[in-house]
Amino acid sequence: MPEANSPTQKTHEPLQNKGGSPLSAEDQNKGGSHNEPTEGKKRRLFKKKDMPGGLWLKCESCNDTIFRKELEEKMMVCPACGFHFTLAGKQRIEMLLDPGSWDEHFAELTSLDRLEFVDKEPYSEKIAKTVARTGQNEALLCGLGSIEGQRVALAILDFKFMGGSMGEVVGEKIALAAELAMTKRLPLLIFTSSGGARMHEGMLSLMQMAKTCAALHKLNQQGGFSICVMTNPTTGGVTASFASVCDITLAEPGALIGFAGPRVIATTLKQELPPGFQRAEFLMQRGQIDAIVARPTMRRTLRSLFDFGRAAWE
Ligand SMILES: [Zn+2]
Repeated sequence: MPEANSPTQKTHEPLQNKGGSPLSAEDQNKGGSHNEPTEGKKRRLFKKKDMPGGLWLKCESCNDTIFRKELEEKMMVCPACGFHFTLAGKQRIEMLLDPGSWDEHFAELTSLDRLEFVDKEPYSEKIAKTVARTGQNEALLCGLGSIEGQRVALAILDFKFMGGSMGEVVGEKIALAAELAMTKRLPLLIFTSSGGARMHEGMLSLMQMAKTCAALHKLNQQGGFSICVMTNPTTGGVTASFASVCDITLAEPGALIGFAGPRVIATTLKQELPPGFQRAEFLMQRGQIDAIVARPTMRRTLRSLFDFGRAAWE
């Protein structure tokens, strides 16, 4: 169930197991020097909670301690193992778009607590806190921008906002982004990182799966062109709806992409899962992903794909 993947249920492998490997076991073993005593000391010195201003952080995949500035210079890709850190929406925009080209739309839309849902705290309070913390009203950023001179309609899911979960507003903004692409006759580009449907909104969140698919279908019927880039992690109702139905489906290296989490599946099937299960590379071999694109070549690749898709409009 998509709710099982909700961030509040904490079923995401890479987030829950901070020291676990979002990449393959082979990749993890590449960082073989971690057991050296000096490295051990270094790691103890720079425990996350002791890092003033977050100058250093730990790679979720290889456990290496990385200087934040170096990581930022490398587009948040681990210099040791190539793990692609999950980006905040605004960080993605900065990295992806031509400088100064971002023009945000529909930023004012906020969630309603229609069910008056309460778990550890009322949903309405949780939303208010998240809005204050992130400085944005919802998990999806939507607008227009340029990539190497090509104008695009853009929708970016932000994992920092309630695990990028899809409620009514996220669904509505995907539909609006598709309409924006249609009226402006621009390609639609979506980036996903999500725990799935937002359980706090119950059935209304599940309805967004049908709604977003219908919006993308309409865009397709009118000759539109869409690309989705799945980033780590993309799960639940988002994978099972709009993320999987664009003309082209890309993924970042090592991204966890699935419906139910690997642990849920292993427990249900009572079977050991194959190595690399639900990772982008595994899914590409089986035809779910068209291509895996590393962050440094993302802009260039997207630009060439837009040129290819332009034929759809002309
Ligand atoms: Zn690493």
